[in-house]
Amino acid sequence: MAQIIDGLAVAARVRQQTAELVRKVKDETGVVPGLAVVLVGEDPASQSYVRMKEKDCAEVGIASFDYRRPADTSQEELNAIIAECNANPAVHGILVQFPLPGHLDEEAALALISPEKDADGLHPINMGRLVRGLPAARACTPWGVMRLLDEYGIDPSGMNAVVIGRSSIVGKPQALMLLERNATVTVCHSRTANLPAVCRQADILVAAVGRPKMVGADYIKPGAVVIDVGINRTDEGLVGDVDFDAVESIASAITPVPGGVGPMTRAMLVLNTAEAAARAAGVTR
Ligand code: NAD
Repeated sequence: MAQIIDGLAVAARVRQQTAELVRKVKDETGVVPGLAVVLVGEDPASQSYVRMKEKDCAEVGIASFDYRRPADTSQEELNAIIAECNANPAVHGILVQFPLPGHLDEEAALALISPEKDADGLHPINMGRLVRGLPAARACTPWGVMRLLDEYGIDPSGMNAVVIGRSSIVGKPQALMLLERNATVTVCHSRTANLPAVCRQADILVAAVGRPKMVGADYIKPGAVVIDVGINRTDEGLVGDVDFDAVESIASAITPVPGGVGPMTRAMLVLNTAEAAARAAGVTR
């Protein structure tokens, strides 16, 4: 049976490490790291994500600045909030919760965030820094996956890694991070031919698709490490992109849903914010 990769436990360690960094920044400079969370509209899932992120901030000692606006907020009003946060020295990280209502331009909002305050690591400049191998805030979900691999002693160097999904939030940055750690990386997507056969080459398989239980036993090489990024709300509750019961006896290690990658995304957000505050305050770790 595969080892279960415990994202809740690793996320708790990341929060503890974050709390230590927050304390160091406060002790050395008097600065309290701050995260601005911008939520437009009343989407229940987004509201619950934002509540959890604010709770994480409180736990590690980060001040949160709450910007909740109605669904009919204009692009100009949203841009003004982002500009205000960029200019506010008490704000070190800015998170605009996606999806935004359809009339708002997510790319435009993202591009307006100061790259130094990009808590989500999704700003084009920070994605560019990732491509060029430069230090920068990293996209929280794939960065959380890398941390899980590290914590479980899984070194991607020389391994075949297959990433299913090519989104800017998960798949593409995940592929780049695995490449940076010397894996041989294949990126699959909705037009990939013979998907199960390609995935069976993987020593590390990352599924970031959004299709419940799509990845079955026929996708898995015996002994593979299987990372399930998918979060799908179904009648059975939350399920991943991987058919956990079918894959558990073939893989060497696997993340559950819930309790795998999800908690890591939140933990990396507070870590990114604390690191941005440390950089801004000139505190070295
Ligand atoms: P997305 O819809 O932007 O991208 C999905 C990707 O899957 C696309 O690149 C598409 O080409 C590919 N795809 C779609 N159908 C496919 C198929 N049949 N075969 C192969 N590839 C296929 O989604 P996303 O934002 O990258 O999110 C992916 C999943 O991860 C979702 O379930 C989302 O809820 C979840 N997610 C989880 C976290 C977390 O914290 N755990 C964070 C972000 C996203």
